[in-house]
Amino acid sequence: MTEDVVVTKKLKDLPGVGPATAKKLEEAGYDIQKIAVASPHELGEVAGLGVETAKKTIAGARDSLEMGFETADRILEKRKEIGKITTSSTELDNLLGGGIETMAITEFYAKFGSGKTQIGFQLCVNVQKPKKEGGFDGNVLFIDSEGTFRPERIAQIAEAQGMDPDEVLKNIHVAKAVNSDHQMILAEKADDLIKDNNIKLVIVDSLTSHFRSDYIGRGSLSERQQKLNTHIHTLLKLADKYNLAVIIMNQVMDNPGILFGDPTTPIGGHVLAHASTYRVYLRKSKGDKRVARLVDSPCLPDAECVFTVSEQGITD
Ligand code: ADP
Ligand code: MG
Repeated sequence: MTEDVVVTKKLKDLPGVGPATAKKLEEAGYDIQKIAVASPHELGEVAGLGVETAKKTIAGARDSLEMGFETADRILEKRKEIGKITTSSTELDNLLGGGIETMAITEFYAKFGSGKTQIGFQLCVNVQKPKKEGGFDGNVLFIDSEGTFRPERIAQIAEAQGMDPDEVLKNIHVAKAVNSDHQMILAEKADDLIKDNNIKLVIVDSLTSHFRSDYIGRGSLSERQQKLNTHIHTLLKLADKYNLAVIIMNQVMDNPGILFGDPTTPIGGHVLAHASTYRVYLRKSKGDKRVARLVDSPCLPDAECVFTVSEQGITD
């Protein structure tokens, strides 16, 4: 998708953008594409533009992007490269149509202790396996925003898979995000690391916790949603460009509006609902059992399955 966008203009050719503004935008990491999907408010903040000027700038950026159409056979050709990475639970793999897909975002949302992080750890190991064993011959970029990354646990899971834990850990590149802006930058600057290290899996655990605490109160909700939108599109672009899998973990909030059933809703609203290709809701069951429910998939039926979180990692 992204390779087909042809940029015909430079930043300073956009309406309302002089050399000084162009410099500010560039320093903040904005190119024409990013301006085209920005909000006037956001540009105002970044480059000091008035709302009306910013609207013209955004319109100009949109005009200068020729969104290329692709023929369906080419898209089909590209989609043949899509990989499926096993979760180590056949049940969960089946629910997902064969495993965690590349060129897509898979979201797991649940309360604490439901196994989101454990699934992430298991995938850190599994993606490194050869394709014929359910892996994707690739390495991992792990963005940790909750301080729950545990190499010891990944080593334990790797051993259970008969792999050398030291080798497995060497292929996992971890960054701790200190706040939501930092988290966004980590994803925006990931291109080189991805290319140089054959990254095939990007995990953000969790996507929303910093955004939730950095933007408190009703007034800042729209700003939070704009930033989340930008962030998720950065991730989607990486998935598409490098044929890699993106897994995002998400928290839930109590939804007092629901009287019956499970009163929990994922954070992030419509922004995440639209961007995630697969959304999986996890909940605890008896003992080490967990229930996963696929929600709103574009091509698979809504369904549930049971898997286990044990010392070995994820199993049926
Ligand atoms: P979440 O990320 O959804 O908050 P986690 O993925 O951290 O939840 O899941 C934590 C749970 O995983 C623990 O409550 C426990 O049931 C299970 N777990 C974690 N480590 C181990 C282990 N070494 N052996 C067995 N179970 C484990
Ligand atoms: Mg966790």
